[in-house]
Amino acid sequence: MDGVERGTPAEGEIDTAPDAARDVLRRVFGFREFRGAQREIVATVTAGRNALVLMPTGGGKSLCYQVPALLRPGTAIVVSPLIALMRDQVAALEHNGVRAACLNSTLDPETRRETERALAAGELDLLYVAPERLVQPATLARLEQARIALFAIDEAHCVSQWGHDFRPEYLQLAVLHQRFPGVPRIALTATADERTRREIAEQLLPDGGAWFVASFDRPNIRYRITTKERPREQLLAFLRDEHPADSGIVYCMSRRRCEEMAAWLSERGFTALPYHAGLDAEVRQLHQARFQRDDGVIIVATIAFGMGIDQPDVRFVAHLDLPKSMEAYYQETGRAGRDGLPADAWLIYGTRDVAHIRQMLAESTASEAHQRVERQRLEALLGLCEETGCRRRALLGYFGEVMATDCGNCDNCLSPPPTWDATEPARMALSAVYRTGQRFGANHVIDVLLGQETERVRRLGHDRLPTFGVGSDHTRSTWHSILRQLLARGYLQPDTSGHGGLQLGAGCRPLLRGEEPLQLRAELASGAQRRRGAGHSGPPTAADSGEWEALRRWRKALADAEGVPPYVICNDATLAALLERRPQDLVDLARVPGIGQHKLDHYGEAFLEALTDLDRV
Ligand code: ADP
Ligand code: ZN
Repeated sequence: MDGVERGTPAEGEIDTAPDAARDVLRRVFGFREFRGAQREIVATVTAGRNALVLMPTGGGKSLCYQVPALLRPGTAIVVSPLIALMRDQVAALEHNGVRAACLNSTLDPETRRETERALAAGELDLLYVAPERLVQPATLARLEQARIALFAIDEAHCVSQWGHDFRPEYLQLAVLHQRFPGVPRIALTATADERTRREIAEQLLPDGGAWFVASFDRPNIRYRITTKERPREQLLAFLRDEHPADSGIVYCMSRRRCEEMAAWLSERGFTALPYHAGLDAEVRQLHQARFQRDDGVIIVATIAFGMGIDQPDVRFVAHLDLPKSMEAYYQETGRAGRDGLPADAWLIYGTRDVAHIRQMLAESTASEAHQRVERQRLEALLGLCEETGCRRRALLGYFGEVMATDCGNCDNCLSPPPTWDATEPARMALSAVYRTGQRFGANHVIDVLLGQETERVRRLGHDRLPTFGVGSDHTRSTWHSILRQLLARGYLQPDTSGHGGLQLGAGCRPLLRGEEPLQLRAELASGAQRRRGAGHSGPPTAADSGEWEALRRWRKALADAEGVPPYVICNDATLAALLERRPQDLVDLARVPGIGQHKLDHYGEAFLEALTDLDRV
């Protein structure tokens, strides 16, 4: 394949040619403008400086290193743990005329040798390498012989020893800094929390670098959370009404439930495949491949399914059981709508789920401190479930992001839920937290409110507090719900010891003094099924017509013929734009987002023909 013609200026001039970046964006990738911080990130890395990029899934991280890869002389090395995806990423780049290849354990010796030769000869723009291969002495020696444009370290949170995706080889990437001192590194991740960020910077960018922290909002995802009444029927109604032919993920807590749900949905005409750690590796791989390559496949999965799903057109993520934490909820729902088109995050939960997860946490063998952190993450998620205000505001608030206005695209914004005046009980709760010394967890605080004379209450003399027994009008579960909502809204916060104690939050004074009323979501039991928001799904205009399906079938056939997933041919956003704009010739077609020069040359006529065929039917 021919290389992309590169407007690479001499090294010293790179900084002064900002339009070269936009030119590559347009010519190679077919996009008019950079998104968000992309432009600045590209400029930073192209100029040879390090960068740490924190962007949500679907935010457009790939271009942040792919564009500099084409602007800087030499080969960009992309470190990624997701071997299964490398092939597709390389195929997608090749479809844009970029010279890309990968090195990992799945290659046959001949292909590997050819790739190594191409690297040495300077014939590659990008080379994807698995971390365990990169840190081998032979690989490092080979890279030293070649000209390296930059190192992109994808899924950079894998370096965090406290995270769920820890990869020991990522720690060894520190050698890059020593062995390639003049080569810029860009570390990328969609993991938001502060500690992980710091770990990434310390481990991977010890010599410093610019931080780019994007908003973690996913505006195209509509968040909806309801109580669980009849889960199967609720899911079926959701799928039939809103996603009859879409790809999506249904998460369940247990393997058995995955199997049952997949079978049940299949009987009702959906293409639903189970995915969990108990299945043979081959079956798992087959199901994942079908999800990636076929249109309209539903994966019914445990959380074993996730990392490395970078399908852009997942139209919904449905949770039949509660995720483990706020972090997990954000990450799992984030797999929907990476292409920026409308997508649903739909969750149903019941009190029994809560009990089940609590029990799992209690039986966990993790350290006590770790368990408390997990418990708090769960409590925060329960708070989100019971939230009466904008869900997005609460979700982003948990990650430290403040929204100026409500989102208008969550269930609570679309149809506000029933609430009750909880001002008095909330004051009692805050007062009990305060008077017990701001260091006890929910259970002890509730014991005090309910007037329970437990051993601890007596030992600490908490039965003599004025708040002792003032809350006996409410049940323990109501008190839990109140405390959770106070926690979710920041009136209460976890204490700094990390031991699960509660303390007063910054903004609680007006409420405590009775100067501010508080409405809380009505108890679960009374939470009958709420009205659904106005239906929405899929690409806006095209979804109603058979044309959309016809065009998708055409794309699928072309993709099958080439042995690649459909989105490599073009993503849904491009497909929708094609239908909307109906380009008549190659000049029109070139203006459609996602159609770069290479696609225009190689597939232009085919695209136009497919559109003409639509007109004939
Ligand atoms: P991430 O890796 O951050 O999850 P990707 O790099 O896969 O996200 O990008 C997500 C989607 O957004 C892709 O379909 C990509 O083509 C598209 N995209 C990225 N940047 C732009 C842009 N500047 N203009 C239009 N589409 C873009
Ligand atoms: Zn909202």
